[in-house]
Order: sequence, then structure tokens, then C-alpha cells
Amino acid sequence: MANAKDTRRNGSPRLLIIYTGGTIGMTADPTTGALVPFDFAHLLQNVPKIGRLGYDIHHAQLDPPIDSSNMDPRQWQRVCQLVVDGYDDYDGFVILHGTDTMAYTASALSFMLPGLAKPVILTGSQLPIGEIREDGTENLITALQVAAARDEATGKPMVQEVAISFGRFLWRGNRSTKASSTDFGAFKSFNHPPLAKMDLHIRFNEELLWRPAADVAFKPALALDDAVGVVFLYPGITESVLRPQLASTALKGIVLRTFGAGNAPTEPWFTALMAETIKAGTVIVNVTQCPAGGVEEKRYATGDALARAGVVSGLDMTCEAALTKMMHLFGAGLAASEVARSMTTSLVGELTPLR
Ligand code: ASP
Repeated sequence: MANAKDTRRNGSPRLLIIYTGGTIGMTADPTTGALVPFDFAHLLQNVPKIGRLGYDIHHAQLDPPIDSSNMDPRQWQRVCQLVVDGYDDYDGFVILHGTDTMAYTASALSFMLPGLAKPVILTGSQLPIGEIREDGTENLITALQVAAARDEATGKPMVQEVAISFGRFLWRGNRSTKASSTDFGAFKSFNHPPLAKMDLHIRFNEELLWRPAADVAFKPALALDDAVGVVFLYPGITESVLRPQLASTALKGIVLRTFGAGNAPTEPWFTALMAETIKAGTVIVNVTQCPAGGVEEKRYATGDALARAGVVSGLDMTCEAALTKMMHLFGAGLAASEVARSMTTSLVGELTPLR
């Protein structure tokens, strides 16, 4: 663990806050009482102490701001474009986002921004800024400090990846999952330690921070293909329920949420349906329903049958990462066989490769 200092060497850190919506900036609708997104000026008025950070802060926003349940690949492209447009002008980016789909957005952005060498920090809150008790102010200030942090030795940004700063932890974006709808520590990354711990100090786990390879230039890849889906298995699933989901020729890739270490029913209709779907050109990726651990498909006959049918192991990837990675790979125009191969390779630290 190491402490980091804000860079003041070349003046104040210059940061861009991108407000997309979410609870952090919401207010209660006067007629229904339900929380709805509000504008960014309201949010900043409620956090005057941002000024005391001494940073050069600018902002942009999605117009209109949205509840993150309405996030989709088009919105990811809009957010990503803001980062790309400001890439040379800013030292770092803080994206304010609803918690509900923040892990999907963080995963998607990590694949859309290969070669990223600056911090892209997502945060939000469980209670809106402006309420008497809330976690938004703390989360926003901390995210700004994380985005401003520099490695004292190199002068380079401490964080050079897409990460989620929430509560007391900084998590790798494409390893994160929303784990609680109520806890102020809403996010967890079950298969990867935190990148930093926030207590009295912000303590970075330096050896875990992602660093782009020296020869890899920043090369945004905004194209996404949304012809992918998620299929969730459960005991008692029948062919009449599953077949229409898999037979949809519109789908190029499917994340199959399996049991335990990547297991599924071994009934002949099930294995045959998998093989048939793969033969028709769809990539099926095995991702466990367990929040922690991953797929070891050779461990049980029930997993081995899937592998023999041609289902690709998602190893210890989250569903959010597997899904958005396929959107990215198909978006890049890769053929099914190339997508299948890349799903077991770490592109931006989203999985632990097999040794
Ligand atoms: N529904 C909200 C959203 O995701 C929840 C939140 O921000 O915590 O936009």
C-alpha cells in the first residue's frame, strides 16, 4: 500500500466531471415523492467544499441526466466520447452515475478505452447529495481526489484505468458488481482485491493497479454490438423456455449463467441445444451465478458436458464484464471464433488467466 499526493507540480489537477444522473444528483418529485434526476448545478451548489480542493474542475453532462436503469450502449458511447474529446485536456475524469448499472458501464468503458493512461473514476451514492444524511458528498470528494492522485516517483496518474470509487474502496471497474441496494459500500469485486482503501488516507494497492503496456497507444473503440444476451439457468428449466431464447438468430453471443463451478443440467435436450446453438454461430460463454469464484468446467461432469458442447469458459469474469466484452468484440467486427478465443484472454484485467 502507498499514499499518493495530488500533483501540484504543474499547477492544479484539471478534472472533468461527467454527470450522467443517478441518485447522487436526484431530488424528490414534488407530486409523486419518487426520486428523479436533477441538474448538475443543483448538485454542485450542495457541495461547496469542492472549491477547497483547489482543483481546476470542469463539467459536462448527459442531457437529460438519467436513472442508470436507462443506460444502454448508445449512452456508453456518448459518455465515452466525452472522455475521448477531453482526453488531452484533462488529467482525469470523474463520472457520476447511478449505482444500479454502474458496474456494466464501468466494464463497458474499460473495453472501449484500450490503452487508457488516465483515471476514469465512476462514483455515485445511495442517498442524494442535499439530503441531511447522505453518502454522495463523501463519494464525490473522494473520487475527485483519486482522479487527481499522482505517483510521486513518476509524476504519472496513480490510476490509469476505469475504476469505481465508492464508500471505503476503489475497485477495478470491470471486476465490480453492485452487491447491496442499501449499504453505503454498495460495490464489491469478489474476485479481485480493492485497488485502494479509503480510511484516514487514500491507500493505493500499487501492485494491483493496471498499467497499459508501453507499446499500446490510447485507441478508443466506441463501436458496440448489442446482439448479445444473458440466459440464467435454474433447476427445472425446460426446453420450451430455453429454446426460444437460444434459437434467436439475432444473438451473436450469450452469457450463460450457470451453477457453481460452471455446471448445467446434463439432460440430452440441454446439451444438444447448446451444441446446436454454437454450431449455428453463436458464442456461448459460461459465467457462474456465484458472486465469488469462477468456472472450472472440468471439475464436474455437469460442467465438462458444456465444454464438450463448445461452451467457452468465462473463468472468473463477472456477468457485467463478459456481456460488455462481447459487445465490444463483436462491435470490433471479430468473427465468432476470434470472439470465443478472446473471451479467455485478459484484455484490461477483467479476468484471471489460467496458468
Ligand atoms: N436508480 C438509481 C440509478 O441507478 C439508483 C442509484 O443511483 O443508486 O440511477
